[in-house]
Amino acid sequence: MARTFTVDFLERYLEPLHMTLLRLVKTEAERLDLPIYIVGGSVRDLMLSRLIKDFDLVVEGDAKQLAEAILRRFGGKVVFHSRFGTATWTLDETTFKRLNVPMFDVADLPPFLDFVSARSETYTEPGVLPTVKKSTIEDDLHRRDFSINAMALRLDNKYFGKLFDPFNGQTDLERGLIRVLHRRSFVDDPTRMLRAVRYAGRYQFEIEPTTLGLINREARDVLSRISGERLRHEIDLMFEEPSPSTMLQRLAELDLLIPIHPSLQHANFQLPFLEVLSSEFGEFTVPDIMTFKRTLGWVLWLMPLSEFDIDTLSKRLDFPSMLTKSAHSASSLLNRLPALTTSKPSQWTFYLEELPSISVYAVYLMRREPALREYLVSWRNIRSTVTGNDLKARGLEPGPRFAEILHQLRAAWLDGDVKTQEEEKLLLEKMTQ
Ligand code: ATP
Repeated sequence: MARTFTVDFLERYLEPLHMTLLRLVKTEAERLDLPIYIVGGSVRDLMLSRLIKDFDLVVEGDAKQLAEAILRRFGGKVVFHSRFGTATWTLDETTFKRLNVPMFDVADLPPFLDFVSARSETYTEPGVLPTVKKSTIEDDLHRRDFSINAMALRLDNKYFGKLFDPFNGQTDLERGLIRVLHRRSFVDDPTRMLRAVRYAGRYQFEIEPTTLGLINREARDVLSRISGERLRHEIDLMFEEPSPSTMLQRLAELDLLIPIHPSLQHANFQLPFLEVLSSEFGEFTVPDIMTFKRTLGWVLWLMPLSEFDIDTLSKRLDFPSMLTKSAHSASSLLNRLPALTTSKPSQWTFYLEELPSISVYAVYLMRREPALREYLVSWRNIRSTVTGNDLKARGLEPGPRFAEILHQLRAAWLDGDVKTQEEEKLLLEKMTQ
């Protein structure tokens, strides 16, 4: 039987600020007589009794009208995207004052909400982005990927808490099945095959047999023509999951990697757990933790590939240059590792310093070579105590010889040839005699 949700239930699984926003949106939608729903992944996660961090709202009618009404009452800012019929409302200080919510309560939450007009989508050609038209909630759910993502929870008036579930998503959730909504689904949008593998891996669900049968030649053929950016995005999302290895293996078993790029069949499928860095490893030049996880995931995965394969793959998937460089560097470090093992700390350091530190970290996770750890934790921070200014004070002119002296002093510290400032001074005197 279709489920009904209560306020108590929602309060248990939504952040208090989200609950406040939900009430506000509900009241405004009711004033305008607009049916409004929570849809997609947030309904799925609510039904699995998982805490939800954000939610997608669909309005049967004009999302812009609703966003404008909310803006008038609660301030903030609204941005419209007319092609998709969406409006993003960003809360600001005025909004928080009017809502009587202290700003510090929301430090971890992105303080914005997306409103989407219910829409239908038609695919004029396989694999291209669809044509979009305002429509009903039925059509809006029909354009979605899987039954478990095609449920809507209505919020307005007497309908509050009613689940709208035209594709029996609730039953599939209970049975643990990933099921597409129609036979052309993967041909319309082959990235859904990657999404199916991701959800199956995340929830330990099965891909339902008919759906599995639709992962066929035709769908793989369209997959091979999908833009690199869209494919990369789907794989990025796998690297944000706790066990990307199983998902990547599943892609290989389903013959979904060769259509993306043939070299991927030779990638590394035994990824270590994507450890979040402990502070002992120090700074890595990656903007945030998700970017870090994704980059690390790609670098670990592609490490066994040749530089040539990494280059062609990088073009196919439109890698940012930082990712291409990190993958190259990890691959060449892995190859050079046997030749480096007898090196002195200074030789390791001067070589590793030329590489992005995330590449060194990735090879360390794969091979556990102690020198790589030492480099990351300690060697890369060791400098001579003598500086350029000290050399100038001794009457030396800046130039190649200058750099060479500093380099040798640093090597002496790294290799333990000098251990005190006294010893360093003696060495400097010897070098400058
Ligand atoms: P996640 O927990 O992975 O973020 P989500 O369901 O919130 O899951 P989104 O990628 O944010 O995933 O997409 C939101 C919703 O949009 C999905 O639940 C699904 O209904 C729909 N959707 C997303 N991508 C597609 C697609 N390629 N084809 C059809 N529907 C899609």
